[in-house]
Amino acid sequence: MPFTANRRFKANPIIFSAAEGMHYITPDGRRILDGTAGLWCVNAGHCRPEISDAIARQARELDYGSAFQLGHPRAFEFAERIAQLAPADLNHVFFTNSGSEAVDTALKIALAYQHARGETERVRVVGRQRGYHGMNFGGTSVGGNPGHRRPFGNLLASVDHLVHTYNREQTAFTRGQPAWGGHLADDLLRIIAEQGAETIAAVIVEPVAGSTGVLPPPVGYLERLREICTQYGIVLIFDEVITGFGRVTKGFASNYYKVLPDIITCAKGINNGAIPMGAVVAREFIHDALMHGPINSIELPHGYTCSGHPIACAAGLATLDVMEREGLFEGDPELIQYFEDAAHSLKGVRHVLDIRTTGMLAAFDLAPVEGMPGKRSYACHLGAFEKGVLVRSAGDATVISPPLIISRQQIDQLFGTLADVLNSID
Ligand code: PMP
Repeated sequence: MPFTANRRFKANPIIFSAAEGMHYITPDGRRILDGTAGLWCVNAGHCRPEISDAIARQARELDYGSAFQLGHPRAFEFAERIAQLAPADLNHVFFTNSGSEAVDTALKIALAYQHARGETERVRVVGRQRGYHGMNFGGTSVGGNPGHRRPFGNLLASVDHLVHTYNREQTAFTRGQPAWGGHLADDLLRIIAEQGAETIAAVIVEPVAGSTGVLPPPVGYLERLREICTQYGIVLIFDEVITGFGRVTKGFASNYYKVLPDIITCAKGINNGAIPMGAVVAREFIHDALMHGPINSIELPHGYTCSGHPIACAAGLATLDVMEREGLFEGDPELIQYFEDAAHSLKGVRHVLDIRTTGMLAAFDLAPVEGMPGKRSYACHLGAFEKGVLVRSAGDATVISPPLIISRQQIDQLFGTLADVLNSID
């Protein structure tokens, strides 16, 4: 099982056999309120008939059709729609099968771009502490969780990490963007001074670090990163695998924070988690730099057998229709305010050291148990499940990211249950 302590799982398996809207359903018929949208992906709610039907129709009509000079209409329609949703001239889409593949693809595109424009010494890539960029070699290397890297040796050479932006003393219980920490973007200047800008191809960050505990960017941070990258010819990649497709409203975090990256990675909500898929969206100048070779050359020697798979694209198109029709990209400011109020009402509840929220994302840092990292958040996960609510344990944090169709009553149920559980665990 992915990301599972399998021995612990065997002792305490949680199995779902069906899902519908805001709920998972267990084999014995219990309905569990999904406080995590699967793994940050089922943004429009589970088993939406429009999406399931589109998948079934596409599977009957065309089951495969990409790569090596083959194409199919769904991939182009879907790419077009994503380009419309993405900011400014982020107009070129490369499909992958996951967020991890999107990240490795984005890093390769950034390296290829630098190479194509003659900057062949630019081979270094920069990630950030507490960043998460998937589990492939590139993403693990730029990722900022040493525990994810350590068992695998050195992974990619030529990687540096910016300092992370979290400081509980300065920012505890902030809603949205912390006022403190914008200056930390200047840590990129340290790396530039150490390595030389002429060796750095790209910087990759999540606009809101997700898996490591929902860390919204400090005010001014993303703007400053943008400024430095522009000044030094470094490609700026926003990993929007979580924040893309409505999680922080406005479609993408790049729209929400009004900072334009050169490349966006996305996945998860791209087709509501229904079929494996990810995508990389690049700006015109990146695309154009790769397009100057002879007509019979492959501009980017990269791809996957199932890149732009017709069924994944059909699911994606149906997802976009649902999301647009229901205003889920844009987000409902009143509902989000309600969600944030409900989350922050847990300030003062036992074990809670910090609460962070942005869009339909919330994290609760719990006081760690000496020598047993994650013990309390796991107890919280099990306790909430017993009471019919799914929340996620991420290190010593409890993380919440429900489908965007959640009702106020379900928000009350979610945070009410969480408060009860926190009050009842040691
Ligand atoms: N980047 C980010 C920011 C993510 O949150 C994730 C998944 N949690 C990934 C990349 C990897 O996506 P996947 O699991 O689809 O490979």
